[in-house]
Amino acid sequence: MPVLNRIAEFQNEMTLWRHHLHANPELSYQEHQTASFVAEKLRSYGIEVTEGVGGTGVVGVLHGNRESGRSIGLRADMDALAIEERNDFAHRSTNRGVMHACGHDGHTTMLLGAARYLAETRNFSGRAVFIFQPAEEMGGEDGGAARMIREGLFENFQCDEIYGLHNWPGMEVGTFAVKAGPMMASGDAFEIEVESTGMHAAQPHKGADVVLTAGHILVGLQQISARNTDPLDAIVVSATQIHGGDAYNVLPNRVTIRGTVRAFSPTARAAAEPSLRRVVEGMCLSTGAQCKISYVQQYPTLINSDAAARSAEAAGSSVFNKVETNPPQTMIVEDFAFMLEDRPGCYGWIGNGPDDNGRILHSAWFDFNDEVLPLGASYFAALVEARPKA
Ligand SMILES: [Zn+2]
Ligand SMILES: [Zn+2]
Repeated sequence: MPVLNRIAEFQNEMTLWRHHLHANPELSYQEHQTASFVAEKLRSYGIEVTEGVGGTGVVGVLHGNRESGRSIGLRADMDALAIEERNDFAHRSTNRGVMHACGHDGHTTMLLGAARYLAETRNFSGRAVFIFQPAEEMGGEDGGAARMIREGLFENFQCDEIYGLHNWPGMEVGTFAVKAGPMMASGDAFEIEVESTGMHAAQPHKGADVVLTAGHILVGLQQISARNTDPLDAIVVSATQIHGGDAYNVLPNRVTIRGTVRAFSPTARAAAEPSLRRVVEGMCLSTGAQCKISYVQQYPTLINSDAAARSAEAAGSSVFNKVETNPPQTMIVEDFAFMLEDRPGCYGWIGNGPDDNGRILHSAWFDFNDEVLPLGASYFAALVEARPKA
């Protein structure tokens, strides 16, 4: 694979950084050691560093050896998940109950690798901005991307375009996938509280049964995708939590249902909330229960701009064996979508190898594939070096 030679030379060091990060995972907005590790490395390459951007975020700025007013942003995420790691290799997590189960240790390492190479060579025009964001897993308005933007990321660090990537288990190592337009879904969260006075289980006629009402609601919610959305427009409604009741002989006075709605088109997304309200209110009307509904739009759809997708494809083609330009979209959401709302750019998936034996994202057996490190670093570097003078 045509990894940049200089990057191949420090592949072993990158592997050590990745193992260090994997062994020392930190949750969203607690990435203090990770941020210091990143900042220290960037400074050692002679890159200007600003820490504390959006909480624990780190931003590095590097000038190329050719004058240009243009600036390209590259982003990696740094946080880990609240999962107890089940692996027993030497670099397993030493922070109990916290684990790099999404491969952000690999993303951080690849961007550091690109930064080191670009700082040595500076064979590009304008500026490269290295963005290490916190709290990707927290997501929504509270997540790291939205917070960095709110706290002036793009005002303080000019980025005319921005690129990010995620490892993709189940896609071969040496494969890269990118797509112009919507690639990952929007994500909204809902909470439904179904309430009544509660009563004896043997006297259900003395009030409204919130457990039965919740059952009707769970089924009724599926009508949103099956009957209220254009069949050619993808949407998924998943009730993921249901809480209620403490005793076998009491009909409780409250059941809470929570879940998520994922969509691609703004039309399907906008129609989902009123549909959900109508279903819930209708079911409650039919049983006599009361309801409270809260519905929050959390993540925008991740949309790659056409020009940036072409740049990503070109840079990818120079590094990877295979670039897929029409991968199937996914209903998974991604915090980077906030950055792409603000700036044109492109997100891509980098093959992480087989997804058997728990090697899937957010699994307690996951581990980022170290073979991928020089590929991702070379891809980022190729993107920067391909910048035209402007
Ligand atoms: Zn994740
Ligand atoms: Zn992730």
